[in-house]
Amino acid sequence: MDSQALKQYVENLEPAKAIWINNSGRAAASGETFPVIDPATTTPITEVSSGTAADARAALDAAASAQPGWAARSPRERGEILRRAWELMIASSKELANLMSWENGKAYGDSLGEASYAAEFFRWFSEEAVRSDGDYAIPPAGGSRTLVTARPVGVCALITPWNFPAAMATRKIAPALAAGNAVVLKPASETPLTALGVMRILKEAGVPAGVVNLVPSRHSADISETWLADPRVRLVSFTGSTPVGRSLLGLAAPRVVNTAMELGGNAAFVVGATADVDAAIEGLMIAKFRNGGQACTAANRIYLHKDIKEEFTQKLCQRVAALRVGAGLDPETEIGPVVNEKAMKGINQLLEAALEQGAKVLAKAPLPSDLAGYFVAPTVIEVPRADSPLLQNEIFGPLAPIKEYSCEDELLEMVNGTEMGLASYVYGDLNWALHLAEKIEAGMVGVNRGLVSDPAAPFGGVKQSGIGREGAREGIREFQEVQYFSIDW
Ligand code: NAD
Repeated sequence: MDSQALKQYVENLEPAKAIWINNSGRAAASGETFPVIDPATTTPITEVSSGTAADARAALDAAASAQPGWAARSPRERGEILRRAWELMIASSKELANLMSWENGKAYGDSLGEASYAAEFFRWFSEEAVRSDGDYAIPPAGGSRTLVTARPVGVCALITPWNFPAAMATRKIAPALAAGNAVVLKPASETPLTALGVMRILKEAGVPAGVVNLVPSRHSADISETWLADPRVRLVSFTGSTPVGRSLLGLAAPRVVNTAMELGGNAAFVVGATADVDAAIEGLMIAKFRNGGQACTAANRIYLHKDIKEEFTQKLCQRVAALRVGAGLDPETEIGPVVNEKAMKGINQLLEAALEQGAKVLAKAPLPSDLAGYFVAPTVIEVPRADSPLLQNEIFGPLAPIKEYSCEDELLEMVNGTEMGLASYVYGDLNWALHLAEKIEAGMVGVNRGLVSDPAAPFGGVKQSGIGREGAREGIREFQEVQYFSIDW
């Protein structure tokens, strides 16, 4: 897609009418807009309408009106619409990928991967829509019968991050709709255009007016507060940082709103003494550098057994030094810029703090000299201390800190010594790796694999990484309430 066609695609999305209610776009009630910035150049792409509490309420009015009609549609009808959404999203995956690389900065290959991953949630949940089971049972005391069924939870408020602007939206919208709910969505302020693209696909797929509504805004808290204070909202599903998740849990508490929280991570990547070093390097390049390290599942701490450390480190340094950093839209780019200046500064500060404590840079990829964007060089750092800021915080960028270990007790203490528990990775002979994986406090463990995301698998974390699961069969249950009927016999 050339740059002219991409500009036209963005213009056709009508970003100045980005408040999407009842299947049509409108300007914000206040008339306010905010810029979307290209992180590769720091120049504005366009202005997007910035929703207010009044827009949030209007979106909710539409969702609440549409909810009963949508819930009354047959599961098959809902499934067919979602299936069409999958087809349409696959058909427009190149346009969406270009858009994501422009507004988010990620390498085009990563964007294309995301477009197909995001679409897959529509296909998976089109199939789950018709597989909602129940139960019929005789209770121990007899004298009655128990009938168990699932019903839609009600209007859902969805709040999504910028790092996977398409997939984090579809991973919520698809199961919510499959279960018979209407939704209101607030996308991240950095990436509202992708969400707008998804709205158009859903409309074209046949989603009725009011079932999916979108309120981009630079005033995130106004939107979430409006939604969570309204008795019509029965569930908030959030993906983002743990601090914002905590504040949303607080807002949900007074009305006891259902919550689904996909929060921050701090994934360990363990390479054991028996690991196939080359396979582990391949896995790490995905686990660490996919999306430029801006993934909640990104390998954040690399623990190397002393027996393989030298070989692994040398090979890793060669690979990282050769990474091509550039604008996401450049097809040659492997690592794009990080999303904004705040992210860039935060990552650099973590690196500086670690270096002050004795960490050493072992390898670095060159940065593009012709671009003024928010670039961070992919870097391998040797970290001598287990309490290094690079190991204790979610880096969310292309820094790869390595730390040696020699015994399993020491390793597990480091791996589990965090309040986060989203993903981790283990490389080694299968028996050892599985034994270790069972002891790791994380919702997901990649065993000899650097990728855990799969629409057909339950995605989610333990500890402060979240509550609930997305994708798989579990994903639709988050958007249902169990109801049981006790029948006199
Ligand atoms: P963020 O928490 O800053 O923002 C997420 C969303 O919340 C955005 O839409 C943002 O506009 C909104 N938001 C920000 N402040 C808010 C407030 N006070 N009230 C209501 N909404 C508010 O997170 P981010 O920087 O967009 O994303 C990065 C974080 O997300 C990382 O910690 C990452 O690990 C996490 N993440 C988790 C998963 C997962 O599945 N567990 C997936 C992707 C990202």
